Amino acid sequence: MAKHQFQTEIGQLLKLMTHSLYSNKEIFIRELISNSSDAIDKFNYIRLTDEKFKENDWKGGITIKLDAADNSIAFNDNGIGMNEADLMDNLGTIAKSGTKSFVESLTGDAKKDSNLIGQFGVGFYSVFMVAERVDVISKKAGEDQAYMFTTDGTGEYEVKPVVKDSHGTVIYIKLKDDEKEFLGKWHVEGIVKKYSNHIPYPIVLNYEEDETTGEGDDKVTKKVKKSEQVNEATALWTLSKTELKSEDYNEFYKTISHGDDEPLAYLHNKVEGANEYTTLFYIPKVAPMDMYRADYQPGVKLYVKRVFITDDEKELLPPYLRFVKGIIDSEDLPLNVSREILQENRVLANIKQGAVKRILTAIKKLKGEDAETFTAQYNRVIKEGIYIDHTNKDTLLEIVRYKSSSEDGLISLDDYISRGDSEKKEIYFITGEEERVLRNSPLLEAYKSASVEVLIMDDKEVDPIVTPMIGAYKEWTLKDITTIDAPDSKTAEEKEEISKEFKSLTDKIKEVLGDEIKEVKTSTRLTTSASCVLKDSSDPMAGMAAMFAQMGQEMPEIPLILEINPDHDMIKKLDGLSDEGLFADISWILLDSAKLSEGLELKDKTAFTTRVTNLATKAL
Ligand code: ADP
Ligand code: MG
Repeated sequence: MAKHQFQTEIGQLLKLMTHSLYSNKEIFIRELISNSSDAIDKFNYIRLTDEKFKENDWKGGITIKLDAADNSIAFNDNGIGMNEADLMDNLGTIAKSGTKSFVESLTGDAKKDSNLIGQFGVGFYSVFMVAERVDVISKKAGEDQAYMFTTDGTGEYEVKPVVKDSHGTVIYIKLKDDEKEFLGKWHVEGIVKKYSNHIPYPIVLNYEEDETTGEGDDKVTKKVKKSEQVNEATALWTLSKTELKSEDYNEFYKTISHGDDEPLAYLHNKVEGANEYTTLFYIPKVAPMDMYRADYQPGVKLYVKRVFITDDEKELLPPYLRFVKGIIDSEDLPLNVSREILQENRVLANIKQGAVKRILTAIKKLKGEDAETFTAQYNRVIKEGIYIDHTNKDTLLEIVRYKSSSEDGLISLDDYISRGDSEKKEIYFITGEEERVLRNSPLLEAYKSASVEVLIMDDKEVDPIVTPMIGAYKEWTLKDITTIDAPDSKTAEEKEEISKEFKSLTDKIKEVLGDEIKEVKTSTRLTTSASCVLKDSSDPMAGMAAMFAQMGQEMPEIPLILEINPDHDMIKKLDGLSDEGLFADISWILLDSAKLSEGLELKDKTAFTTRVTNLATKAL
């Protein structure tokens, strides 16, 4: 008999299962049933699409056998089964990079953590919360030899050939001494109903019960074998909406989410007409752990006429909706649809289009706390959507939320419009790295004093790329305040006047700063600050941030313009200053402090501190 070592990561995982995640042990039942159901799905599919596997009287099903005398529980399915290599690959190693991130995501809260098990594709190992030993006896459909995989979960496993009549898998679990609760019929039945009621195959419980016959001295109690189907075994989405209550939907959600939570929202639609299909989608309350991983597990399963086709097709919904869980069941697609066909299939494209519209409508309808939860979890992927989904851009723009200079919390673009200047139709925004810096930016001063609202966009990885793509929303143009003139009451003539008045000063500052700065101008956007810097919007690179980001390149540096506040005391005094050295120091300080206010890096920090220290010394 061949002994094998578990992959190191599995060893770690097993330790976790046995020592940390034991507060919610019952979920091992959900995970094993889910695996059996998947295996039956797979066999059902090849039976219908491949002559070789045609079996006329086959009906998928799962039995759970409780054996009190043996202290064991066993799960038996007639699914696709595993051969020797499958057993070693699927149970002895973890193909997905999932385990590592699973271990990293653990919060220490055992209940929450055990809900992560299913999400990370490590469900099988949950048996070690209750098992002293596990035997997996399996025969793969179409093959002659069956194999048994045995382990006590401490780091090694064995695989050997055994005899088994039909294809499918038996997971035999020798329970630990203190896990007798999993021998109780009512207990196990309750768990199956809780998590697996709508698994579309019958789950039959085999158990023994005491039965007493006779009276008085003739009274005898014997163990009697009983057998009972404990789940409804209907694919929930095939039922009519009117038959279903929200509890039914929530219960089904537990089956497909491998969790205990209720969803934030669900939507169930049967569509008839040119294409006939049913969709049932859920929006989880908490974003999937792998939402920002390239190898995320898609949440939507594809069925054709109730036959499971795939749960690994990322194209079923656009990528920005990858947090949605659920099913699509089509009446029109062929059963043997391949991945290539799927990706350019008209039927599926239609389904997808309708599904996106319905999901977005459901999101729009979220109110109050639910809407806030949605924003907290998914605002960022909605921005992704704005960037790529031009068809639904307007709807996504209704959903997205932003911070604002006018209030704490998040607002919608409609909120902005409702209180903005409806003649001008402009939505002002500023993007950057840090909320605090943005809120205190000198560039905002003029907007604040004119009571004009500005959106504060501090998601530095997303906003600077997505926002310039928006263009307009309901005919309101989005304007980056670092590239436009500030709102003020001065006429062009007045501005010209001021600029002339200070021309010798601005020229002199430019002379000091040289190539550090493209231009020095008098400003009308400042009230309290002495100076500010802005990017030169006439520079051809200025509008191309999005393009550079898309190509994965860093944005080339855009020249800066320094603006000085002609009403500021410091500027007024600087105008007549004869001390050349002091003039130079102050010019540099005007530039560097303006840069700091925008959160920009200084090229020479030491020079800046030296100048400030010099100045302070003089002042004293
Ligand atoms: P996941 O189900 O997310 O893939 P699991 O740890 O639950 O992760 O199962 C690992 C793999 O073992 C499955 O993907 C499947 O290939 C295989 N497997 C587990 N149980 C069965 C079963 N009853 N029949 C066939 N294959 C199974
Ligand atoms: Mg599983």
